[in-house]
Amino acid sequence: MENGSGFAGQGRRSSRQSTSMVPETVRVEGRDVHPARVESNYDVFRAPKFVLLKARWVSDTEVNTCAACGAKFNQLRRKHHCRLCGLVFCAKCCKEKMRLPQLACEEAERVCELCRPVAELVTKSRSSHLPFQLDSAKGLAQATRNPALVPKVVELGGIQALITLSLIDSVHIRRHVTSGLHVLSTHQQLHTSLAEAGAIKAVCKVLTSVGHTEDDTLCDGISALMVFCKAPELKMRALDDGALGPVLAVCTHPTPAPALLALMTLSHIAENPATHEAIVDSPKQALPRILAMTATQDEQMQEVSLKILAHLSNGADKIRHRIVQDDFSSGRCLHKALGSNPKSDQVLCNAACLVANLAVSGSDQGGLHDVMELCGTLLTTGPSNTELLAHLTRALANFAAFKQNTSRLIGNVQPVVSNCLRSGVSPVRTHALRFLLSLLAHLPEQTAQALTRDGAQELLQGLGSVPGLLDVIKSSLVAQAPDRAKPM
Ligand SMILES: [Zn+2]
Ligand SMILES: [Zn+2]
Repeated sequence: MENGSGFAGQGRRSSRQSTSMVPETVRVEGRDVHPARVESNYDVFRAPKFVLLKARWVSDTEVNTCAACGAKFNQLRRKHHCRLCGLVFCAKCCKEKMRLPQLACEEAERVCELCRPVAELVTKSRSSHLPFQLDSAKGLAQATRNPALVPKVVELGGIQALITLSLIDSVHIRRHVTSGLHVLSTHQQLHTSLAEAGAIKAVCKVLTSVGHTEDDTLCDGISALMVFCKAPELKMRALDDGALGPVLAVCTHPTPAPALLALMTLSHIAENPATHEAIVDSPKQALPRILAMTATQDEQMQEVSLKILAHLSNGADKIRHRIVQDDFSSGRCLHKALGSNPKSDQVLCNAACLVANLAVSGSDQGGLHDVMELCGTLLTTGPSNTELLAHLTRALANFAAFKQNTSRLIGNVQPVVSNCLRSGVSPVRTHALRFLLSLLAHLPEQTAQALTRDGAQELLQGLGSVPGLLDVIKSSLVAQAPDRAKPM
């Protein structure tokens, strides 16, 4: 009988040397799994030879049956511990001995049949022999796709092994590593374990070293980054770990599939305004490239690139200015996008949202006249999509705030009254009121004439329904007539 004096921790693994954020237990493939933890100060990029913390040894006295086959222990059927999982097995289920550099064991140790397949792969990842490293990467990637093996991959250091393998400059190894990490990234419960082990950095490193022919590797790597950049708990971590650079680089990739995935990832990144300057100032000329994609034949590409620009135009004035300038020098892509006749409404929605955002930029009104006019034309067709209607009305209202635009906008009073002011959607009505009030302020006579023909009633009703507005008007009138009790 082996000496069963393991660590007496509360969890299954000792937390003696670990300050990790990795949860004690996660639910993977319907099982409670204890993610592998490594000895402290582990950074795979500095010291790839990680050492796993040992699992707690189940005491001999706690069990009467083999943890694998369920056979009862007796004088003939003795108890054996698996060095990796710490459970107790019969000799038949725990017969192999193997070297375990991942536990810093010098001697070959007993490993159970449940741990053995993944344990062998993790052991091989520590070899300096390329064919073994390749076997390990391939086997681990396959294991991530096998629901029966995923828990063992997580418990026995398979994540850490894949990450150390990512450091090797081999086309085939990085193919398997990114494939495995992508599959693991789809398990939301593993996100902390993956991030703590360095998976985001590993994927970024692979993406910056792939050649232009490694499309599958690019797609898997970018897909994994997209999962990380989308996950609320990881998106900041993904940026800290360097996701933006490789994503921008792949956005400009000549093959459409990885480029589209990169654009989709970038649209998640751009939700955070803190990233906008880095995106716009990227040395890869990302902005002109994204603008060019808004006018391609591929509607999905159009939709995503317009979405990114809509995020970018939602922040600082100087970025709106850059977008208008770059659009000008890249051949008026926005005009083409807004004037295209896409099958998907979402393309026009994103384009109209972008134009509405750009329309608040005081220094760019001259450069936006043509898209302003297109917004008016689109509004005249009475779009049935309320999101599109809201963006178009908002765009016209934003443009109307600038006096120099008002004479070009006066023709839009009638469509704004009939399609927006009479709309059942509250934000649409609000933007319509803003539009009409700006015109009334800048061009009172012409606007009043147009409204008297049609729309005066709706305008007054609309104003009456804005909370607090009538009170403001009343106090303003009172301020101009201080002696209400006396005759004039
Ligand atoms: Zn057994
Ligand atoms: Zn085991």
